Amino acid sequence: MSEISFDWKPGIEEVCLKLKDKKRIGVQVPDGLKTKSHEITTLINELTGAKVLLWGEPTYGACDLADRPLEEIGADALIHLGHLPMPYHSEFYAIPTYFVPVRHTGTLNLEIEAINEIKNILPNKIGIVTTAQHLHLVDYAGEILEKHGFDTSVTTGGPRLAGQGQLLGCNSSAARRLRVDGFLYIGTGLFHPLTVALSTGKPVACLEPHNGIVSIADPKPFLKQRYAAISKAKDAQRWAVLFSNQIGQKRIELAEKIEELLIKGGRETIMVGSIHQSHDQLLGMGIDAAVITACPRLAIEDGPTWPIPLLTVPETKIVMGKIKPEPYPFDEFA
Ligand code: SF4
Repeated sequence: MSEISFDWKPGIEEVCLKLKDKKRIGVQVPDGLKTKSHEITTLINELTGAKVLLWGEPTYGACDLADRPLEEIGADALIHLGHLPMPYHSEFYAIPTYFVPVRHTGTLNLEIEAINEIKNILPNKIGIVTTAQHLHLVDYAGEILEKHGFDTSVTTGGPRLAGQGQLLGCNSSAARRLRVDGFLYIGTGLFHPLTVALSTGKPVACLEPHNGIVSIADPKPFLKQRYAAISKAKDAQRWAVLFSNQIGQKRIELAEKIEELLIKGGRETIMVGSIHQSHDQLLGMGIDAAVITACPRLAIEDGPTWPIPLLTVPETKIVMGKIKPEPYPFDEFA
């Protein structure tokens, strides 16, 4: 297996060529690159001569930009590392914003054993999907699989997505748009392939791209956990309706609608806004359950660690009898 690291330097060098006239540049770095923060800010300063300000809040996606607070303190550009832009809101940045994609450098490991395992899981006609870090492997994976008899397709999803085959935790349209019988997910982690399996109802094989391990995305444990949270929330009387002001996570009208639904159903509510949501924000308010209208991944990944049920918007509609519990409805941003 080749050594895996993050490939961010060429992207910074390219972007800095456009920023020679800037005086104060803000930088956002995802958690996985925090250890490189000093190297990154030093390099930007050397290449541009500008003052460089690292924004210390976490960032989870292009939905989660620091352009507005950085504008308030006089920054004249933002460099955002690790995510691709979301085309639908690219006209609304408060200051010029430049995205530096961060790729995993390891080569694709797709040997005959892995191909045979994929054949055991998937039919012949498949779509290929992945996350931003592995988009550069999609075409090559398709070429190899075609040589072994697969009929592969890739497409770009909706306006939140910039790359061919790209998935987000809140959007699997790059899978849903394809007329295929199954999907190969290239990447790590279970969350993204589960969204594909649940939103398409088709089998999904997961290929860990650098060690060649193949597995099936099995939604059963996930569904068990989500239906348990839904069931627990049925008895909840006081609800927090959580919303964010971040450009790609802001759904204030939806938050107000879900609050109305809860009130009509005889529940007490309080609307709670923040950049990033946590259970600590609700301490002392006597909250029995919460619904998140910002990043739905929070409910799925962090929800199980909260002492109260934390539901997505469609899960809350199930509690209130507005939609059927099956098939399980993922909360997707359009
Ligand atoms: S899953 Fe959450 S963090 Fe990721 S793009 Fe969607 S809203 Fe942003």
